[in-house]
Amino acid sequence: MNVNDSLRMGESLARVGYRPTTSAEDADLIILNTCAIREKAEDKMLSALGRYRAVKLRRGALLGVGGCVAQQEKAKLLARVPYLDFVFGPDAIARLPDILRRVEMDRARVVETAWLESEEYVFPRADPNSSAGKVSEFVTAMKGCDNVCSFCVVPHTRGREVSRAFPDILQEVAGLVEVGVREVTLIGQNVNSYRGGVSFAELLLRVAQVPGVVRVRFTTSHPHDLSEELVEAFRIEPRIAPHFHLPVQSGSEAVLKRMRRDYTIEMYLSKLAALRAARPGIAITTDIIVGFPGETEEDFRATLDLTRAVRFENQFSFCFSPRPRTVAGLKEAEWGEVPHGVKVERLERLQQLQRRITEETLAAEVRKRIEVLVEGPSRSNPLRRFGRTPENRSVNFEGDAPAGSRVLVQVTGSSPSSLAGLQADVVDLPPIPPISIAA
Ligand code: SAH
Ligand code: SF4
Repeated sequence: MNVNDSLRMGESLARVGYRPTTSAEDADLIILNTCAIREKAEDKMLSALGRYRAVKLRRGALLGVGGCVAQQEKAKLLARVPYLDFVFGPDAIARLPDILRRVEMDRARVVETAWLESEEYVFPRADPNSSAGKVSEFVTAMKGCDNVCSFCVVPHTRGREVSRAFPDILQEVAGLVEVGVREVTLIGQNVNSYRGGVSFAELLLRVAQVPGVVRVRFTTSHPHDLSEELVEAFRIEPRIAPHFHLPVQSGSEAVLKRMRRDYTIEMYLSKLAALRAARPGIAITTDIIVGFPGETEEDFRATLDLTRAVRFENQFSFCFSPRPRTVAGLKEAEWGEVPHGVKVERLERLQQLQRRITEETLAAEVRKRIEVLVEGPSRSNPLRRFGRTPENRSVNFEGDAPAGSRVLVQVTGSSPSSLAGLQADVVDLPPIPPISIAA
């Protein structure tokens, strides 16, 4: 989400003549895009601001903070950081040029954190000029979140759900394909609760059928909104990539209840079973919070058991961090704060288990021939190529296939986080025939 927001900020600035520099030392404008999901991110922001203060003093660079911490702190951030020029929330990205004009012309310190309701809000678009040369691009499908998970600050910083009208999304995708984009990732805080004129499943099918699109991905989904129709879309449309990021948060029913996640483990598992039946081999990834208030060793073991049972491809797991204005933040003491040392120790056990599963999953690919969408040279060795499998596994391989092509790669080895191989004889796969869908 934040990578997407940063890209869109860069494009919004490019429209008024700004160009990226490789080093903050040479910048005339520095914007920190912030995340408020855990406390650590906020601490990092403050230390980064301290570093960039020197650039401001030396060459008069303008300094701004965007994103969820900006939305949360508003004018308080200007008071706290006297050398900060402007603060803007996630909804104000398209208005960045105007904010800068006010900062420069009126010599004003600006706070722009108003939320816009659906009719007024303009979704920032990926700019085909900036996307040229990219194989994969994000496309925003919706913003905000109407859920009330007790740990989460997102509804406070990103507001209510607003979906983008589907013709607008399809038009953006068509423009991206024209400049060479082959893979599109639809994003939203709760992307599968999309309601922009068609269902989310239908949106995926329609995006997949834009001529030239090779793969469609999406993130992030709530288990609650994983419909049968969406499972069906996975069954019928091969261009919907076989990867589902489905945050479970905990393996314990009691913890899920306090988290206000309105599903049981049984429901979660049955949805995964349906997905796996519709698309055998689909990779499942998840998010997990450890040390949620009141989490016992037994609750935590249920999370370990779930991780073993599902065999997630990977997971983003974190220690619970109390957030302002959230129910779990306020009730941490009442429900039972898990001591810091216990949280950290549990996280390490969970991550160790996940690392082993990920490693085994990747090792099982060795000697197979797999499909790879080529993104460009490998970062670690520019003589090799880099790409991703439909399951979103990273592959470094020997070959010469250009970015944007699909190749078959013979897997020769695996590491804890990626695959290695050789480009096989068959260079391009036959195109996938379009499937007609009911309008
Ligand atoms: N909309 C997504 C999640 C968005 S936030 C969903 O419903 O699953 C991304 C992840 O950050 C969450 O899945 C959660 O695992 C983590 N997270 C959110 N609040 C947190 C907190 N207070 N402490 C620790 N991790 C948190
Ligand atoms: Fe936060 Fe996701 Fe829950 Fe919304 S659904 S409140 S974004 S964790």
